[in-house]
Amino acid sequence: MDVARINTSHGTLEQHLHTYERLRSLSADAARPLGILVDLPGPKVRCASFGEDGAYLTEGDLISVVSGDIGSTADRVEVQYETLVADLRPGDRLAFGDGNVVAVVEDKTSDTLKARVIFGGLLRGRSGLHIPSDRLRITAPTSEDLKLLDAFVEVGVDMVALSFVRSAHDIRRLGVEPAPRGPLVIAKIETRAAVDNLEGIIQASGAVMIARGDLGAECPIEELPHLQKQIIEACIAHGRPAITATQMLESMISAPIPTRAEASDVANAVFDGSSAVMLSGETAIGRDPVATVRTMARITERADQEFDYESWANHIGNLRSQHLDDESEAGRITDSLTMAAWQVATQLNAKAILCLSRTGFTVRSIARFRPTTPIIGFSPDDLTVRQLSLSWGAYPIKTIDRATPGEMISDALQLARDQGGLRSGDLTVFVSGQSTKTRATDTLRVMRIP
Ligand code: PEP
Repeated sequence: MDVARINTSHGTLEQHLHTYERLRSLSADAARPLGILVDLPGPKVRCASFGEDGAYLTEGDLISVVSGDIGSTADRVEVQYETLVADLRPGDRLAFGDGNVVAVVEDKTSDTLKARVIFGGLLRGRSGLHIPSDRLRITAPTSEDLKLLDAFVEVGVDMVALSFVRSAHDIRRLGVEPAPRGPLVIAKIETRAAVDNLEGIIQASGAVMIARGDLGAECPIEELPHLQKQIIEACIAHGRPAITATQMLESMISAPIPTRAEASDVANAVFDGSSAVMLSGETAIGRDPVATVRTMARITERADQEFDYESWANHIGNLRSQHLDDESEAGRITDSLTMAAWQVATQLNAKAILCLSRTGFTVRSIARFRPTTPIIGFSPDDLTVRQLSLSWGAYPIKTIDRATPGEMISDALQLARDQGGLRSGDLTVFVSGQSTKTRATDTLRVMRIP
């Protein structure tokens, strides 16, 4: 694994901080950079507890759904959302759990919704409830999100994901410093509004997660595979990593091997251009999390071998020209230069693309072309090094800050030999930004390892 996600929807802040410290110390022991991503819950709506044994909602039953937090039964569900009855209308679909129990609102009084169970099943504990996001009055980030964010920014977290984003404004309301001074902000695309405002959200974020659990409840299921492709493409064109998430190896929560469909889903997520694939319940409550991560790694490595790199790079080359209009001059310079770096490295059959990058922006820009040449990203910033763990094909190495670009280049060439597996005489393509005024990557050189 390259990145660990701490899902703050469950557990206490103290438990999450403890997990965070353990991850940091394990990654230091293993001497390999590990990105830590804290996932903020956003306005997640939950039912009052159905108890440990749970309650079975029977298909065809008309149940009452009210706001409250004392307890839920099979015919009266309490929901921890104050304006529930005012916000919902007849015809709205209520998906409980991960959508395994579904009811449709048929009628309402001043304080009760009457809903017909159209797909019955057992609900346990404080089950989640998906309400169509355009009905939700609470927006992301919530005050709880901001409290969690403060605590994790304080300890130097690498990435933070915001749930139920609807617009770029939601991202800006987090108020974090731009990465790497602050964490890389990941927008979770799981609402209709986020799909409609995708371009603005991508530009305001450091990366994007296709949160297929809630997105699949929000949109017709037959749309999901196409939305996944469309979101990944838009992200990659902007040089933002895209994470494909949820139910990737779901059956491995209890089974020793995944279903054939799951294995194909993971490989297809790679072919769609995902920078990262994510596990959730499989590693949070699954029977054998280590075997699940290994299985995921085996499937993605194999898919990487079959990936059509040439068509992909040409496709991204075409796509980027459609998305360049809104880019700054620095963005356009980096865009062209990173494309040139990919072409030169491919034509010269270079051993590596070496990239000196303070913020990681250039490395991410090169990674989107998926060069078959390995990318080594050098940065003097610890946070950048760990944030690069999310980028496809990038090997981050920490450098030290020097007075001149020349000294930094010379250090990087030596580190590529000592830590990056290159040998003296190997041909490399070196990209860096020499201008102190812009963050553009403006220099491309072909150099040999000393
Ligand atoms: C999802 O909905 O797919 C998702 C990743 O979010 P969460 O794990 O918070 O439900």
